[in-house]
Amino acid sequence: MPGAEAGAADRALLAKLRALIRRDGPLRIDRYMAACLADPEHGYWRKASIGADGDFITAPEISQTFGELIGLWCAVVWQSLGSPARVRLIELGPGRGTLMRDALRAAARVPEFRAALSVHLVEISEPLREAQRRSLAPPVHDGERPPIAWHEALADVPEGPAIIVANEFLDALPVRQAVFHEGAWRERVVDVDAHGALRFTLGPVAVAMESGLAATPKAGEMVEVRPGEGELLAQIARRASPTVALFIDYGPAEDAYGDTLQAVRRHRYVDPLGDPGHADLTAHVQFARLARQAHAAGLAADGPMLQAEFLARLGIAERGARLMAANPGRAGDIEAAVQRVISPTGMGQLFKVMAVRTRELPPPPPFG
Ligand code: SAH
Repeated sequence: MPGAEAGAADRALLAKLRALIRRDGPLRIDRYMAACLADPEHGYWRKASIGADGDFITAPEISQTFGELIGLWCAVVWQSLGSPARVRLIELGPGRGTLMRDALRAAARVPEFRAALSVHLVEISEPLREAQRRSLAPPVHDGERPPIAWHEALADVPEGPAIIVANEFLDALPVRQAVFHEGAWRERVVDVDAHGALRFTLGPVAVAMESGLAATPKAGEMVEVRPGEGELLAQIARRASPTVALFIDYGPAEDAYGDTLQAVRRHRYVDPLGDPGHADLTAHVQFARLARQAHAAGLAADGPMLQAEFLARLGIAERGARLMAANPGRAGDIEAAVQRVISPTGMGQLFKVMAVRTRELPPPPPFG
């Protein structure tokens, strides 16, 4: 319902959460996030809408150069794996399938790589799976389409050398939050007030919240941890064949305090408790911790590098220029889109890129 307030029309998830909290007590933030995003009946991913006419926009939806450069990056990584005859190209949270479509088109320039590929899309959202099927329908490609399979989780993707790409995937994994209060970290939770509205409050003392930050924070300071990250890295580490993963997301390079939980609907920030199930709910990725967790899982990590620098080193300027020369009528739009994904005021500075790999492999470009 574009432009419309959800109003009373669809408060089913709010009612469900209210009842759950009244029965079992306040909800941890990760459980709240998981319910808002993935509730099987009313969660956001059941109606997720990405793009200029949706709730939020991502780099591959802004400029086709983004997916194309990643496709060429994958071809180089495949060579660094020893050009295996079969390689699994896995995308976590492929959204509308735009990145993969652009990547496969660019990868056609390395025919041996294209011929070695099988594509694995890890996606929980049914409407987005449908969008991916449409984006990746055969006529879009020159040449033959590699086999494509959909999975619920990375653990379901069969063994074999693998290249994993994840753009704005980690930010969607639920976080726990803790607030430093009277000398202890207390879990932040969601409760119901006397009028039935949801509100944040403090729960029990939170233990084992590895944050990498000082042991003596100031009162009111907040930390966030994301349990799904460690689980995902452990799954990557468990793969028997060489694997390289590329994580692109927003968040700080160094450990940082602060509440980064955000809800976005139709390109606007909204109250994360206001209308559960109707907004995209995310939190920053903490890249220093991601690297520590990769090491702890037995993997190597490269970066983080600013998205602007990563794309510059992969040749976004040249690729943009070629695209403009081929489409002079759209040159202004192409240029503006490239600027948006690399400029410090757009995505270039807040977004970071980190590679995680089997330890024996060399760092992938442009890290190595
Ligand atoms: N990579 C896309 C979309 C980013 S939005 C782009 O750049 O445009 C996050 C994506 O991750 C969506 O496709 C969402 O449905 C998916 N997703 C979120 N949590 C997931 C989970 N736990 N398992 C699989 N997919 C998930």
